[in-house]
Amino acid sequence: MKVLVINCGSSSLKYQLIEMETESVLAKGLCERIGIDGRLTHKPTGGEKVEKAIAMPDHTTAVSLVLAALTDKEHGVIGSLSEIDAVGHRIVHGGEKFAHSVVIDEQVIKDIEAISDLAPLHNPANLIGVRSCQKLMPGVPMVAVFDTAFHQTMPKEAFLYGVPHEFYEKYGVRRYGFHGTSHSYVSKRCAQLMGKPYDQSKIIVAHLGNGSSICAVKNGKSVDTSMGLTPLDGLPMGTRSGSIDPAIIGFIAGKENISLDEVLNVLNKKSGVAGMSGVGSDFRDLGAAADAGNELAKEALKVFAYNTAKFIGAYMVSVGTADAIAFTAGIGENDCAVRAMICDYLAGIGIKIDPVKNKARGEEALISTPDSAVQVWVVPTNEELAIARETAALV
Ligand code: AMP
Repeated sequence: MKVLVINCGSSSLKYQLIEMETESVLAKGLCERIGIDGRLTHKPTGGEKVEKAIAMPDHTTAVSLVLAALTDKEHGVIGSLSEIDAVGHRIVHGGEKFAHSVVIDEQVIKDIEAISDLAPLHNPANLIGVRSCQKLMPGVPMVAVFDTAFHQTMPKEAFLYGVPHEFYEKYGVRRYGFHGTSHSYVSKRCAQLMGKPYDQSKIIVAHLGNGSSICAVKNGKSVDTSMGLTPLDGLPMGTRSGSIDPAIIGFIAGKENISLDEVLNVLNKKSGVAGMSGVGSDFRDLGAAADAGNELAKEALKVFAYNTAKFIGAYMVSVGTADAIAFTAGIGENDCAVRAMICDYLAGIGIKIDPVKNKARGEEALISTPDSAVQVWVVPTNEELAIARETAALV
């Protein structure tokens, strides 16, 4: 069985074609600048990467170019579109409606549309990807896999905010959490690596990438997570502020004479380590700047590491006694200096990592010392494979 995984944003579309028998990627790629000019990058496994500027006025054109690339005589990996058995779509927000992945039908599309005000930048773009695929691959089953679904097991004390209850009842204001596909995949894999049954494991996952979130996974279920109603909550990230005193929003709007929307734009796009340091959001650049003596870059990295450690410490309460902390995503998998900083802040609760083992990059590794109070792992995430597995299971 071959599953096409689609992750569709407002102006970009990432894809992977996965052979499920071997769980191997046949080809992957990216359409960028959709609606602007258009750029396609296509990489067949074992073959050469193809990059070309090509007009992409809309998402349907982008999907048709992806399908053409997959079936191309030279760079393609399948003979015809009939070899694609199903399509798995990443959908960012499933609200309270979707606690699991679902096969997409008209009602599901309506339900996703109905919760789009919770993720106005993401859900409509995700749905455009669904519609485009439906148009070009009629009859092929499609599955929606939600970033929020894994967190629907959180208890009320974890997901309710301290605001009037009517905000929850009328508008669904609560913590939803994101990166659920990654937290689920990584916690399951970490339990396997430890040789523990998933339903008896207690794991804190630190998904540290451009967007970052921490998740407390107790007995295979998410019991708390740091992102909230939107992906702006929790840790300071590449360009997002994370949790701040909510009064700052009105305060800055008044001081700078800007609207609430403009303040939110700053909090989403010009804050986090980029805003703090002035260097940028890429942790490689920040690390280099800090090494070269840039004090603001050093400070930004410390704020990021300290807050990550603080959430991990808090989630020790949420899971009871943790078996493991698992680092994942771009920073978690690759940035040994940041991992070491985070674990330094956790030394007071008996967590110790081995500096040699901590050199691991992009590979599964146990990086704690044998006498560490909690095991610390690096577990590379694979959201596309997780989406493909969900899709294959449902169709
Ligand atoms: P992601 O959103 O998971 O793709 O992660 C992106 C983040 O990972 C960016 O901030 C990158 O700087 C960071 N990253 C990727 N590779 C490395 C690396 N080798 N060392 C440090 N940070 C990295």
